[in-house]
Amino acid sequence: MLSKSKFTRGMNCQKSLWLYVHKNEERLVSDASMAVMTQGTSVGELACEYFPGGKMAMLEDYPNIESAKRTQEYIAHGVETIYEGTFIFDDTLVAVDILHKQDGKWSMFEVKSTNSVKDYHIKDVAVQYYVLKGSGLELEDAFLMHFNRDYVRRGALDIKQLFLPESLLGQILPMQQDIAPNLQLLREMLENEEPAIPMGGQCSSPYACDFQDYCSDLIPFLEQEAKILSSIPEVNEGEVKAFVEMIQYPVHYLDFETIAPAVPMFDESRPYQSIPFQYSLHCQESESSEINHYAFLAESNPAIDPRRALIEQMIAQTRSAKTIFSYSPYELVQLRYMIRDFPEYKKDLELIVERLIDLIIPFRRKYYRTETMEGSSSIKKVLPALFPEVSYNDLEIGDGMAARYAFMELYYIDDVNFIATTRENLLKYCHQDTLAMVKLFEVLKRV
Ligand code: SF4
Repeated sequence: MLSKSKFTRGMNCQKSLWLYVHKNEERLVSDASMAVMTQGTSVGELACEYFPGGKMAMLEDYPNIESAKRTQEYIAHGVETIYEGTFIFDDTLVAVDILHKQDGKWSMFEVKSTNSVKDYHIKDVAVQYYVLKGSGLELEDAFLMHFNRDYVRRGALDIKQLFLPESLLGQILPMQQDIAPNLQLLREMLENEEPAIPMGGQCSSPYACDFQDYCSDLIPFLEQEAKILSSIPEVNEGEVKAFVEMIQYPVHYLDFETIAPAVPMFDESRPYQSIPFQYSLHCQESESSEINHYAFLAESNPAIDPRRALIEQMIAQTRSAKTIFSYSPYELVQLRYMIRDFPEYKKDLELIVERLIDLIIPFRRKYYRTETMEGSSSIKKVLPALFPEVSYNDLEIGDGMAARYAFMELYYIDDVNFIATTRENLLKYCHQDTLAMVKLFEVLKRV
């Protein structure tokens, strides 16, 4: 039997659905995908509070024939709000997050942990609508319930403000005529041999496909063979020198790590707003002086907003700097959020913004490049291109996303050893980012 997720998987890439059904053991679900799925589940549970007091149809971990029978029983007994209501039609099973009856008319609500409607959501809701209508439900409307990006948490979560239901009826009605033929097409495809579909944009969008390892193993070795890239720098001396001459000591190097909770955890934050929980700061008072390092890493206590302590320590530790380097505009964006959300620190934060200079500029504008940077100005490419002995691969936490997940995990874990090790890894990772900036500026100064 097909399902909503199989239908959308197959519509994105038939081979992905074929592999899911026939070679599921080849599937590799990344930690990031697992975290997204877990987050989706908890957001779905939270959204049920939008229509409280309903009945849960799915008592197992996944929707099945039993939850479909239970849904029909609830409907027959006059239940007006059903969570995970399950329906079967045209040999296809779907569950909808919330089914709600008002003034005698049913509406369905599919919950997504995003700030807006995406194209692939519309396909989800279209197939759900097809099955619900086909199974005989008098369905008046179909909504996608996503986060309200303008919601600012102040005190307890306001569920009615946090979520924003948006009717998709206008988009999904014209799609209905194509659903039956597409379901049939997918069924026939599943009866045949593995489809020969080359890798392409569908492998990473709208989701990272969980068969990428399997498919890339099939690409002939010759196609994958790496070109030998030169590490000899190509330098626009005038531009690099002009950049370096603009820099005044003391020079500080600043890098933030952030979490971005889907559901705002702290007052004065919005859905998915980035919340800095850590920074690393390398400081050099003059060209000849030694380099000192400072760090901030918040306690993982969900009752304490990490931003206030971070702001206060950062203001104190950057007071002497004439130049504050960041690498990418990310730090500037975070500082602007801090100014908006903590106006009491506005004056001091604006002083940091005034002294902020983006060290990525000479690399992004290709004033200093090597082939080994592979056209990228990301610090993860630039640093190993210039310092092959330094690699992020040696770190337990090797990128900002991993740091984000690692810190979020600490909110739910009591194991003191695990917490201590993770905190140490976070400190090492962030330290490496600002140390990398120190090294890159040294390279520019030598031009
Ligand atoms: S990796 Fe790409 S080609 Fe392979 S199954 Fe997934 S989406 Fe299809």
